[in-house]
Amino acid sequence: MKYIQKADLLAWLDITAWEKNLIAPRKIGNQILYQPIENSSQICWDYIRPDLSLKEAFFPPTERLFMMKSNSQQVELVESMPEEEKIIFGVRSCDALGVQMLDELFLENIPPDPYYAKRRENTTLIGMTCSQIGADCFCTQVGGAPDDPRGLDLMFKEVEDGYLLQVLSEKGQEIYESLPKASDYYGKMPDRPRGKPLFIGAPESIDWESHFDDEYWMELSDRCLGCRICAYVCPTCRCFDVRDEPIAGQPGAFERLRSWDSCVRENYRQIAGGHNPRAAKGERLRNRFYCKFFYYPQQYHTSMTVACTGCGRCIEACPVNIDISEIISHLLEVAR
Ligand code: SF4
Ligand code: SF4
Repeated sequence: MKYIQKADLLAWLDITAWEKNLIAPRKIGNQILYQPIENSSQICWDYIRPDLSLKEAFFPPTERLFMMKSNSQQVELVESMPEEEKIIFGVRSCDALGVQMLDELFLENIPPDPYYAKRRENTTLIGMTCSQIGADCFCTQVGGAPDDPRGLDLMFKEVEDGYLLQVLSEKGQEIYESLPKASDYYGKMPDRPRGKPLFIGAPESIDWESHFDDEYWMELSDRCLGCRICAYVCPTCRCFDVRDEPIAGQPGAFERLRSWDSCVRENYRQIAGGHNPRAAKGERLRNRFYCKFFYYPQQYHTSMTVACTGCGRCIEACPVNIDISEIISHLLEVAR
């Protein structure tokens, strides 16, 4: 294993933040977020995982896809392709896995989404393994691990006075070559952190089809506010809405916008004529869990078994304590 001293890593981060667009976990108010930094002193090192995932680095909450300008003669389309290159440091394994799950929709489907593809191509992901597991984390129960290297270009692991590093891609090799010289490491390896299991069993062992009509979903939804914060914080929720808006002050000019959406929204599935196949709140809330544990494995034949990274953000964020781990627990329990 290669090893780099903390002082050398900090010096590299300072230079990189000066020369390039470097993003890292940063304390903003009482939140920790992946944000641009100007120097290494702005990096937050003591965190379970940032409050928001990496999703918006590739799939922004709202983005302009293109602009339309028209006059009596013609319509002109002006594409808004993202060109910026980014290095994201301090990425948690669950967030890198979340990006891989987004890839299934935006890259592996034909045709790939050009906006997402450009951001992926222009971004390098540098991971930092977790040294502790949060109370709401359950990555190891959905196929992940606090040191899972999948989806990362380079990964650091904290040891005494420095970091071990693992090169995982060509982009990672380029970063490695720009770092101060690494040495071999013969010191003590830290123990892998262990968390308390949030449920007993595997979500993929549940017979999801047989629970589709359970009254449980309607009862659960009695307290759901439909606020959609669960989808907002989720690294794998990937539904979006597309709309055209006039541009203020530019007669004849419109922009096509893409924004995050959520299956919990009341009129999410409404079709022409007003029919809504998911009219009941319980049907919409049920879809959130079926999408992650039943539809995703059916639709995408990937190494990821479910579309949940176990990051626990939705557990922390839901204002009425609708807890995904309790839902999995319940289904595992009733199946016994
Ligand atoms: S724990 Fe919740 S927020 Fe995290 S990936 Fe799973 S569903 Fe999404
Ligand atoms: S965060 Fe909770 S209350 Fe809000 S939509 Fe999601 S499940 Fe419902």
